[in-house]
Amino acid sequence: MSQPIEYLKGVGPLRADLLKKELGLFTYQDLLYLFPYRHIDKTSITKIEDLTTLTEYAQVQGRLWYFENAGGGSAKRLTAYLKDDTGVIELTWFKGMNWVEKMLKQDAVYNAFGKIGFFMDKPQIVHPEIELVTDPKAAVKSYLEPIYPTTEKLRAKGLGGRQISKLTAALFSLLNERELEENLPHYLLQKLKLVSRYEALLNIHFPSSAQAYEQAVRRLKFEELFIAQLRLAIVRIERHRKSKGVVFSKVGELFNAFYQNHLPFQLTGAQKRVLKEIRTDTGSGHQMNRLLQGDVGSGKTIVALLAMLIAIDNGYQCCMMAPTEILSQQHYATISRLAEGLPLQVKLLTGSTPAKNRRVIQKGLTEGLIQIVIGTHALIEETVQFKNLGLAIVDEQHRFGVEQRAKLWKKSSLPPHILVMTATPIPRTLAMTAYGDLDYSIMDELPPGRQPITTVHRFDTARHKVLEFVKSEIDAGRQAYIVFPLIEESAKLDYENLMSGYENIKAFFPEPKYWISMVHGRQPWELKEANMQRFKNKDTQILVGTTVIEVGVDVPNATVMVIESAEKFGLSQLHQLRGRVGRGAEKSYCILITSTELGAEARERMKTMVQTANGFEIAEKDLELRGPGDIEGTRQSGVLNFRIASIVHDKPILDAAKKIAEEMVENDPELTNPENNPLKQYLLSLKGKTPWSKIS
Ligand code: ADP
Ligand code: MG
Repeated sequence: MSQPIEYLKGVGPLRADLLKKELGLFTYQDLLYLFPYRHIDKTSITKIEDLTTLTEYAQVQGRLWYFENAGGGSAKRLTAYLKDDTGVIELTWFKGMNWVEKMLKQDAVYNAFGKIGFFMDKPQIVHPEIELVTDPKAAVKSYLEPIYPTTEKLRAKGLGGRQISKLTAALFSLLNERELEENLPHYLLQKLKLVSRYEALLNIHFPSSAQAYEQAVRRLKFEELFIAQLRLAIVRIERHRKSKGVVFSKVGELFNAFYQNHLPFQLTGAQKRVLKEIRTDTGSGHQMNRLLQGDVGSGKTIVALLAMLIAIDNGYQCCMMAPTEILSQQHYATISRLAEGLPLQVKLLTGSTPAKNRRVIQKGLTEGLIQIVIGTHALIEETVQFKNLGLAIVDEQHRFGVEQRAKLWKKSSLPPHILVMTATPIPRTLAMTAYGDLDYSIMDELPPGRQPITTVHRFDTARHKVLEFVKSEIDAGRQAYIVFPLIEESAKLDYENLMSGYENIKAFFPEPKYWISMVHGRQPWELKEANMQRFKNKDTQILVGTTVIEVGVDVPNATVMVIESAEKFGLSQLHQLRGRVGRGAEKSYCILITSTELGAEARERMKTMVQTANGFEIAEKDLELRGPGDIEGTRQSGVLNFRIASIVHDKPILDAAKKIAEEMVENDPELTNPENNPLKQYLLSLKGKTPWSKIS
């Protein structure tokens, strides 16, 4: 299976090179795992007159009537007309024209397959798969022909979506059941009623029946998800075994004093559960690396504080990092207020801390006089050293990278425990695959007594009415956000829209009765922060801005969130923005304004926002609408590039795979049990580092 692909009959060095570059196929095994994305039923040929706008893919057979070159520049194309006894179909190529033209023979009979389109009521196929029919009277072959993903370059070298099947067939003629080793333990196959690897691979390429194909798909999906989960489970357990961490062995006086006398409310069930998880982790002797996902407003700050108190009770220091000055200040204010009366030193350290204060704080940290320091990235600068840092909390940044984490580790002799908090929920299945090597906690419960936010969708034709409503809220003493999109690709246009939007709002809300502040990414950060601050201090009633209206900002008096061109925002962004209101005692509103011309997907997004306020449900919907490749923060991770399984559609298989993988690694972490040997051999044969050596 590890034979280089060029040794296969019909490949050779030239095509091998292209297969490597274009499809990443290096070995026989790689080719076996290049699955067809569909099969054509070669037994069926559709008459041209029977093609309709409802036909998706079809195969037609006809005589090549004539062909011609047309168009110029990027519209240059080759068009061939294929005629059967019922009509004519147009076949068009925009690429590889020379090569196709040389191959075409006037009056010969061809099979053409592809996606059927209609242009001026005439059927056509762009870039069809075509095949010369040498004996049109011979019965069409009776099998399902696999069609593979391919590229234009490969097509030009005779390896189109259909031709690759010849290579796969050649490979199978070399193989038999014994040569293709099973990679799953026998007992698992039996238990889950899965077909063998050989049978599965044979039938995924060349199915003997529809049922055999389904069995093959089921087995290969399981295999793929299971192998991925197994690798993650091994990484996780290795980290637990190898990475020593500081031990918080007890819950002590500070924690108890706070819990009994200072806690301003009852913890929610979710907060208690997460706290328990943190307790277990930090007491275990290995380093905690935990991702805490809590929906907007679920109350992560108090959990962070309680975790810090445990650390301090055990003689350690803590730091808490936020992405911006404003958020750091806000945390500093909240935590100082909550911790009032406790024998604690809490300090704020950011880029704007004056040098003199900074030196005092740095000294306090190295001497261990300060227990909690809150701040921005300034905290990970090398000049900041601790006496004994035990816990580092990172807020609102689930992309806090490995490198940055490593910087934290250097701050004391043992790596501190790390808690990363995010208010951008990721769907469960995605978290299981993308962050499967981290431990993660979920807070999916809001504190009791919150008034639900009313969300509505309005067309821009009703903007005036929306602004009237905003006015009535402001006149009742509340504040409002009005957000405009700023998308990088259309930055200039968006910026102009923001400015003209701002002018309109100003005209509608004249000074001195109304005051407006504006924030956007082109302002120097001092100005941005000053404008935010004016809004926070109620000096202005309206904050107009782009999405720089920070995540996590807490202005309880703000009750209206208006989002302009809401169709330009993704679901998770809309949900984040909505989370800026509904933080106080008053009823809050989120108004999504869009143009009247909305695509189906955008309509679905608006509907989802109106229907649910649950961040996890919204994240699931987002995944469903956009697919895993586009979800924030996972784009480069590579872990989601499944060949056959889908984390959207195969949840039950994923759940089973995860459960079995975890049990297996628990019982047999190095897969030394002879029964598991096939798996071990297979993992070792995979490209890249084996999971046993990958710990980061
Ligand atoms: P987030 O998870 O979005 O960071 P915060 O920690 O800012 O949320 O909490 C949001 C608000 O909810 C705060 O005003 C906080 O005091 C309040 N809160 C947190 N936990 C509870 C609780 N268990 N009961 C009542 N209010 C709570
Ligand atoms: Mg927060």
